[in-house]
Amino acid sequence: MLQLVNVGQKSLVDYATIATRGLMEEIRRLAEPLEGKRLVHLSATAFGGGVAEINYALVPLMRDAGLDAEWRIINGAEEFFAATKTIHNALQGDPQGLTKTQQEVFRRFQALNAQEFEDEYDFVLVHDPQPAGMIEHFPDSTAHWIWRCHIDLSHPNPDVLGFLLPWFARYDAAIFHMPEYVPRAEGMPASYIWPPAIDPLTPKNMALSPEDAAFVCGQFGIDVDRPLICQVSRFDPWKDPLGVIDAYRIVKQALPDVQLALVGSMASDDPEGWDYFNATIAHAAGDSDIHILNNFNNVGAIEVNAFQSHSDVMVQKSTREGFGLTVAEAIWKARPFVGGNVGGIPLQIEDAVTGFLVDSSEQCAERALEVLNDPALGKFLGRRGKEHVRTHFLMPRYLRDYLRIFHELDPA
Ligand code: UDP
Repeated sequence: MLQLVNVGQKSLVDYATIATRGLMEEIRRLAEPLEGKRLVHLSATAFGGGVAEINYALVPLMRDAGLDAEWRIINGAEEFFAATKTIHNALQGDPQGLTKTQQEVFRRFQALNAQEFEDEYDFVLVHDPQPAGMIEHFPDSTAHWIWRCHIDLSHPNPDVLGFLLPWFARYDAAIFHMPEYVPRAEGMPASYIWPPAIDPLTPKNMALSPEDAAFVCGQFGIDVDRPLICQVSRFDPWKDPLGVIDAYRIVKQALPDVQLALVGSMASDDPEGWDYFNATIAHAAGDSDIHILNNFNNVGAIEVNAFQSHSDVMVQKSTREGFGLTVAEAIWKARPFVGGNVGGIPLQIEDAVTGFLVDSSEQCAERALEVLNDPALGKFLGRRGKEHVRTHFLMPRYLRDYLRIFHELDPA
């Protein structure tokens, strides 16, 4: 059997003061006829990255709403994750495609995982491309299979998309963050659009006092009396940590006191992560005001929260970004935010209203400096950002969207 993830417990009633009454009632109404329906999430990793982050909140809330929901992790190996990383990059536009051997590896792991999977659910929710081919092995399934895509498929490498399309075509529905992400290709199943959300009640997003946040950051060598710019993200070329260092260097010329923290978890399905981590360290060239931290330095959820709550500017200088949970996380903490004008970031950031959107390291530096020199501006952006997240990007809304699609696919 595929490994089951222990997601703990959450109660919808705890969200009643954060979400509107209308939304909570809609959830209750939609959930009632779905009581006891069996549902499984399939994904590649239980640690690191946005899918894991969301599922630790979504799965227990689905259970609390009455569904019999669980989350299982597919088995992989280095060769499989190397292939799926190539797929991930190619679907986001990288011209490098899959070799014949990689295609073979991908197929083989779909079959192996299918052998370990009992098809006994009402809904099977498959996240991202890694397990997307398992569906082929269940032609007689009575479940509704839904493919949840967390990445930007607007400019995919056509060969790799073509390789995956026969599997995508078998699904009952596919869900994307934004309409632009739906690939214009023959054979895609019915598409649904809604963006992800963050859980305001997790250790990562709960309110931390400024003193506690500073105390935690201090333990990682940050001088809490000097300005701090921070990016929280995996070490991945699309997240552009090297560009963040370049931006920091420009800011430092005007503001020598400034420090930079690059906080990044290493995901188990991301073999490139360590190479890029090392490249980032090399780019920092021993600057003692650049702090490069990862989960192997004990950076867990509370620590990420502390960095996001304490930083004077939060950055997400991505050059491609499916959604960017880190954006919602940062602005939920009312921090001044500067992010790349790509993917899901503009969905969360209205330029100069809830943060700043930029296209280069130079612009990033300029906006960061603007905020560092004008704390009132930072506060204004932060307040607006927080309200934007409250209205659009919190977990109850996300749960509601899933309940709606279950109704549509399986009318009671
Ligand atoms: N994250 C973390 N620790 C880190 C770096 C990232 O917990 O050191 C979390 C981050 O807070 C966010 C998720 O990993 O919740 C990343 O999701 P996002 O959508 O920003 O990017 P993805 O990694 O899915 O591309």
